[in-house]
Amino acid sequence: MSLTLTFLLSLLSNTNSLSKTIKLQNPSLAFKSDTQSSSYSPSYQQDQEQQQSLSYLSSSQAPTAIPITNESAAPLQGFMQKIRNFNFNDAKKFKERFHFEYYTKEKFMGGQLKTKNGQKYVFNGPPSGVFVSKTCATFSVLIVILIIISSILITYFTTRNTINCINVHTNPNDLQDTNVVRLNATPVATASMLSVPMPPKSKYNPETLPAPVGDIPIEHDLFSEDKTKLVDRKLHLYDGWSPLQYKITIEPNLATSSNNGSIAIEIQRDSKTSTFLPIVLDVHNVSISNVRVIRATNTSNGEEIELDFDSEYSQDNSTFVVTLSKSVENDKELQVILSMDFVSQLTDTLQGVYKTSYTNVDTNNQEWMVSTQFSPIDARRAFPCFDRPDKKANFTITIIRESKKLMALSNMPVIRSSPHRPGYTKDEFMTSPKMPTYLVAFIVSDLVKSHYSDLDASLVPRVEIWTRPENTEMTNYAYSMVRKFLPFYEDYFGIKIRLPKLDLVSVPDFGFGAMENWGLLTFRDSALLVPDDMASSSEHMEHVAQIVAHELAHQWFGNLVTPKWWDDLWLKEGFACYMSYIALNNAHPEYKIMDIFTVFEFKEAMQHDADNSSHAISFDVESTTDIRRIFDPITYSKGTILLRMLNSIVGDEAFRDATQDLLKTAAYNNADREELWAHMSHHAHAKKTLPENMHIKDVMNSWISKPGYPVVTVERRDADLVVKQERYILPSRNVSDNSRWVIPISFETDELHKGDNIPTHWMQENDTEIIINNVFSSDNNTDNVVYLNLYRTGYFRVNYDLASWLALRKKFSTLPRVTRAQLLDDAMHLAQAEYLTYDIPLTFLIEIFSATDDELLWNAAQNGLNYLIDMLQREPAYETFRAFMKFNVRPAFERYGLNEPDNESHLQLQHRAVVARLACKFNYDRCTMAAHLKYREWMADAKLNPIKPNLKPTIYCTALAEGSFQEWYFAYKQYKRSTSASEKEQILTSLGCTTKPWLLSKYLNMTINPTSGILKQDGARAFRSVAKNPIGYEIAFDFLQTNIKEIADYFGDGFSTLSEMIKSITTYMNKEYHKEQLEQFAKRARKLGLTAVESAIEVAMQHVNNNIYWRNRSYYSLKGYLEAIVSEFHINIF
Ligand SMILES: [Zn+2]
Repeated sequence: MSLTLTFLLSLLSNTNSLSKTIKLQNPSLAFKSDTQSSSYSPSYQQDQEQQQSLSYLSSSQAPTAIPITNESAAPLQGFMQKIRNFNFNDAKKFKERFHFEYYTKEKFMGGQLKTKNGQKYVFNGPPSGVFVSKTCATFSVLIVILIIISSILITYFTTRNTINCINVHTNPNDLQDTNVVRLNATPVATASMLSVPMPPKSKYNPETLPAPVGDIPIEHDLFSEDKTKLVDRKLHLYDGWSPLQYKITIEPNLATSSNNGSIAIEIQRDSKTSTFLPIVLDVHNVSISNVRVIRATNTSNGEEIELDFDSEYSQDNSTFVVTLSKSVENDKELQVILSMDFVSQLTDTLQGVYKTSYTNVDTNNQEWMVSTQFSPIDARRAFPCFDRPDKKANFTITIIRESKKLMALSNMPVIRSSPHRPGYTKDEFMTSPKMPTYLVAFIVSDLVKSHYSDLDASLVPRVEIWTRPENTEMTNYAYSMVRKFLPFYEDYFGIKIRLPKLDLVSVPDFGFGAMENWGLLTFRDSALLVPDDMASSSEHMEHVAQIVAHELAHQWFGNLVTPKWWDDLWLKEGFACYMSYIALNNAHPEYKIMDIFTVFEFKEAMQHDADNSSHAISFDVESTTDIRRIFDPITYSKGTILLRMLNSIVGDEAFRDATQDLLKTAAYNNADREELWAHMSHHAHAKKTLPENMHIKDVMNSWISKPGYPVVTVERRDADLVVKQERYILPSRNVSDNSRWVIPISFETDELHKGDNIPTHWMQENDTEIIINNVFSSDNNTDNVVYLNLYRTGYFRVNYDLASWLALRKKFSTLPRVTRAQLLDDAMHLAQAEYLTYDIPLTFLIEIFSATDDELLWNAAQNGLNYLIDMLQREPAYETFRAFMKFNVRPAFERYGLNEPDNESHLQLQHRAVVARLACKFNYDRCTMAAHLKYREWMADAKLNPIKPNLKPTIYCTALAEGSFQEWYFAYKQYKRSTSASEKEQILTSLGCTTKPWLLSKYLNMTINPTSGILKQDGARAFRSVAKNPIGYEIAFDFLQTNIKEIADYFGDGFSTLSEMIKSITTYMNKEYHKEQLEQFAKRARKLGLTAVESAIEVAMQHVNNNIYWRNRSYYSLKGYLEAIVSEFHINIF
């Protein structure tokens, strides 16, 4: 499964209107420099270098990109030299130099605005209104009363007519049809339709039926479950029996929102269990009847032997228990066929078997379709089953559908389609290989195929992509990726795909990013469809390629070999993520995707793994909430980082050989991490990449058994290095936390370049420190650099002593590009947790001023800046911070601008987008004005969007933030009009950028209104875009508190939408009273029985605590540093 990765988009919703306040206060500056860039006048004119720098900056008149030539770069280099020599060697000296003591909390308190939001509201314009006479007013009131009375009368008669119409227009043929259906017996498949030899006992003839066995009591209304109760249920693992084969016939019924079906499960008694245990099936809102148990033996006369049993629901109706009579207790080899009829729920919450709809663009009618999402634990909503990953079995599926629906798909190909009863067709599918229940899938719809299987008929497996008719043109890119990735994986894993077909389907409303169901991969539209006319951004294309690669990798890792239990979910997800990088790197080396890995995946994992709300990547999964909770960045991003770290420890060859061994030995079965560790140790020892006395199990267990990650601290002692470790923890370093890890150490100096990433030293869990001897050739080495964790393969941050930080800063431009990005990222986050003071990261941040082309450094800067932006945006210090950042981004924006040449590389396109994003975010007016103009151009001719795809997120968000309601309504209109899923997602994120409170409120209400056109899959995205807006977060919190019951009902508990919402409201909460508000909210959630959101509230509370701590401890010192730098370099505050 793949989580949708939205970090770049979420960053966009933060633009605020602070610039307006500044412009009001100093109107002479407003927008002037957009037309006259010379009005920008930084006045750092103390020395010649700076004057030259100034003249370069102010001479850039043209709004388009200006190439930096050697001559123009020279003054920049001079400026950077000054920055690099900026003396922060001695913290005291730094403070004295910049009068840091001045910036005490007390001094600042006096200058703060006292208004509630720290903003001023300005009301302009003369009073307006219309004056009327008394007679006119009375007359108007009479007219209104008359209109109301007539409306009531019209409504009454219309309603009466409508009721009559039904009777009048009911076609006698319809009635006859209904009778035909009823009389033609066996309207729904029962066990009799399966090949297992059992006499039919139709449940539709109550006279011949035995009393229903185990039905949910009549007073328990099956489908009236209070969905608001996102209940946390304990998971019990019942042993004693294992399924061998399921034969399922199912008929989804849209009219009744239910599925009628029958099931026969061939079950074997586990010979290992000595006691005679009952058969326990998982169910969720499933009603069962007509239960039978037959001994599965081949008697010579074909006679069936029915067994006596008792059955009942237990565990709050979450299991169905069949207890066989004691007479068969001694048969250790017992095999039975358990058959039953069932009715399950056709949900509307994107889980289990669910219905969704879309608009047919030709007829404008709503078309319904049925899809499934069983992972992780929702197969039990569809049919009774052993719903756990280690109970693998063969599945033979039969689907009954209305004949007018064009197709039905399942994991395997159809072997027979036949008329079932008038108007209905029965599709029988081939038997699947052994697989767990969470991979079962089927779809009934009018989607159409793209005919790739006809074009490439010789390809095995047959690959087809299904979507709505108007989107078939958008599937070419995904198909071309499948053709690249499949052979690559077959070669890498050394195993051919044995399934006869792979269908990829874009489902109009889909909770996850995609799902790897064996042979039937399902995707949300935006994760599969790419418009062919270059209307998609390079970022989106990369995203689609990666998701396709991820789901295909699962066909081996997850499907062929399945983790035994959910505590090893990270293994299958980590492998699928990591393989998707390797496959994409192989297909497109020019993307440099492995470099992006070191910024993006580390950000995702470390951000979620930084405080006490984190969890071990592998922990005891005991409840339904635990299972849903583990689908998070710890599992995905930390999982993939740990596997990459493992790869770097054992080397590429050993890693691949061990992976192949595991897949071959455990094919069609289950595996756990212990087996992987054994294979890895074996091959690493053979290749001599791991010391003989070490085992991968010991290394990896230290990383997966506990939450968090270490900071490795490095100190020079003469020519040696002293290396220590401690846990990185927010809100502040905590020496009493004694978590320790087995850490692989790799390093380089300017004298030693090793050439690979295989570690040379190890730090064990019980080592308080290790000493690496003779790292430098002499004791006098303060000018030499040393940097650890080469290519950022290890999952940890590195903190250096001051001498090393200084040396690294001085030689920054000579360091490898991954190391540069790594240093900036580590410095920013080490300061956040008080391992460093903010002067160090700020001087590394300034490097983006000259490194205008270093897209990796800019990506790292963007991630590091997120937290500072959030914490400062509603504070007075933002003014200085914004000035400082505008100063830093200006050269790169002048270089790249908003105009995109035609022949740029994938990386350049993405880099321009990042530069523009930061420039507009910090209200650099050349960016904001240009963005607004582009958007206005689009508004003038809606059919011709002049905005390049890569720049859409920035331009849309900026235009909506800077603009009025017209921009917002235009965007919403385009949202409804667009057929491109990625375009729709971009607009959804931008709709939350407006600064108009009523629009934000309206937008939030639209997310729980099915007629708004906003799909359930996008509810959390829309909410997040408002919550991340500094004007919007209070409105979002208000909406959440007011509508919590409706939200819980509307979205269900399948995809933790409510939890996601709760986590996203804490961005700007950094005061004590915010904590109290959150506590009140938690109380209310508990009162409503929403126990499943407890962990989200816990995470949110921890974030608020961290924010409060940061504001109390770091805000004023950072403000001091910023003002010192702005003052020292005479950076223009406006
Ligand atoms: Zn996955």
